[in-house]
Amino acid sequence: MKDDSGPCKAITKAANSWAVQPNLLDYGKTCDQFSWATARRELDGLPENKGLNIAHEAVDRHANGPRGDRLAIRWLGKDGGVRDFSYSDLKRQSNRFANVLRELDIGRGERVFTLAGRVPELYFSAFGTWKNGSVFCPLFSAFGSEPIYQRLSKGDAKVLVTTERLYKQKVAALRERLPQLKHILLIDAAQDIGEGLWSLPRRMEEAADAFIIPPTDPEDMAIVHFTSGTTGMPKGAVHVHNAVLTHYLTGKYVLDFHPGDVFWCTADPGWVTGTSYGIIAPLVHGVTNIIDEAEFDAKRWYQLLEEQQVNIWYTAPTAIRRLMRLAIDPTKQYDLSHLRCIHSVGEPLNPEAVSWGQQSLGLPIHDNWWQTETGGIMIANYPAVDIRPGSMGLPLPGIEAAIVRRGTGERAEAVTEPGTQGELALRPGWPSMFRAYLHEEQRYRKCFVGDWYITGDLAYRDADGYFWFVGRADDIIKTSGHMVGPFEVESALLEHPAVTEAGVIGKPEALIGELVKAFVTLKPGTEPSEELRLELIGFARKKLGSAVAPKEIEFRDNLPKTRSGKIMRRLLKARELGLAEGDTSTLEVDE
Ligand code: AMP
Repeated sequence: MKDDSGPCKAITKAANSWAVQPNLLDYGKTCDQFSWATARRELDGLPENKGLNIAHEAVDRHANGPRGDRLAIRWLGKDGGVRDFSYSDLKRQSNRFANVLRELDIGRGERVFTLAGRVPELYFSAFGTWKNGSVFCPLFSAFGSEPIYQRLSKGDAKVLVTTERLYKQKVAALRERLPQLKHILLIDAAQDIGEGLWSLPRRMEEAADAFIIPPTDPEDMAIVHFTSGTTGMPKGAVHVHNAVLTHYLTGKYVLDFHPGDVFWCTADPGWVTGTSYGIIAPLVHGVTNIIDEAEFDAKRWYQLLEEQQVNIWYTAPTAIRRLMRLAIDPTKQYDLSHLRCIHSVGEPLNPEAVSWGQQSLGLPIHDNWWQTETGGIMIANYPAVDIRPGSMGLPLPGIEAAIVRRGTGERAEAVTEPGTQGELALRPGWPSMFRAYLHEEQRYRKCFVGDWYITGDLAYRDADGYFWFVGRADDIIKTSGHMVGPFEVESALLEHPAVTEAGVIGKPEALIGELVKAFVTLKPGTEPSEELRLELIGFARKKLGSAVAPKEIEFRDNLPKTRSGKIMRRLLKARELGLAEGDTSTLEVDE
């Protein structure tokens, strides 16, 4: 059995010492009394019992009531501009966007993609899409054209909202391969261009202000988020409008929203955190959501926390580790006295980072765990509950999490012995659980074994119920908090005329968690050289974008393969890291 205490001392939360009393005070009691049906009563629902729609819960219900003039979104441009939107403004803008879609004859269930930085139009598009009953599919703007193509194609994109620059650089050349992509709404085009290229400002200007959200079944598809797999191309995880209940509940119990709060989530909506918590959860709670267009910059970030008087901050381990490295004493140099809670997600948060928060920011950092498929936070450290640094925390009330061992056939048994390592699993049925992988029924079904959804992570639970992350059960790479599927990277490298084979692994790196490393073999007659290595890195960057492309490439004469010809990434990794090679009985070709 493992030691439960973790490498750093537990951080105890003294009762009655709160500046603002947390929403969840008694974890055990809340879990015992919890029911999703009761939680659902805290949401509004569409007027006249017409269902449940994310945009109504996040925007219209506030806009229609006393919170209409409250600041919903404060957008901070990378060049210093500031744009404020009240809940009423957001209602108007999203109504207009919904009318733009209607004018283009885009209806229920049809997919509206965005490929843009964090600009206000992206947020109007999200809410307008949900109002229209269409499906919001955000893409990360740093993707290269190949990942973009894969996602637009698999997602049956009908509409894409983007900028002129991104369109020209990354999408124009794909149009012939995407016959179903009918309309491109250009955020910064002054005039319609033709061939399905529309000026979004123009369309918005001409659109009506009023829009009545049609009846929405809580099970209607609302969002598709693409996530990487180890085999095959990215999977489109489907989420429904009912997910808003998880967003609401986690906003209440984990992030701990209170009226009047200012919240900042640093994630980009191209990743699930940036949608569930960078768009939906704060607005469902009627608080102010800060959106920063710029990328990471320590001074800018501290300044933002000070000037915007942020109360609740949701960020990621890579960013925290970057801040930790700098010779900045945050609480001495900046006024961070408004901060009440700091949360982190995406990859393991080192115990040292939790303690650094306590010492340098005056607050511990609360780690939480979830994934694209779960749609919302599932395991968390809560403001009023003691933290065990290094642990992901305790399951959300309403969520049953377990460590399971697979039996023979379709069976998986929960392990009750504390400290036993196994697969992290969740009991299906929570509102934001993914409902499908788009067009991949088999792949979806494989995620469920017996009574459990198998997350793909390895973990253990200690005697007090805290969960501890151990690693991934597959080859997926986590780099700067982003999932990268090795297959996607290998496929791109294979398109280079000099490459015969490629095997891609995640190599541990202190700052970004793992870096993408590729091993390649070359066509006969091609000699390895530094020039070719750089060319391959550039080639992959162009195709995949900097977030996905390998940072290191190594030439090999052969790659280790199984008898069926599959490259053994596990072995490449073990050899790279000098670890035990494990079972090599299926190895056929060796290096
Ligand atoms: P994604 O679907 O891209 O959000 O990635 C989800 C995966 O990120 C999880 O399955 C974990 O492998 C990892 N992850 C997310 N949060 C944490 C955490 N708090 N600690 C450790 N790993 C995490």
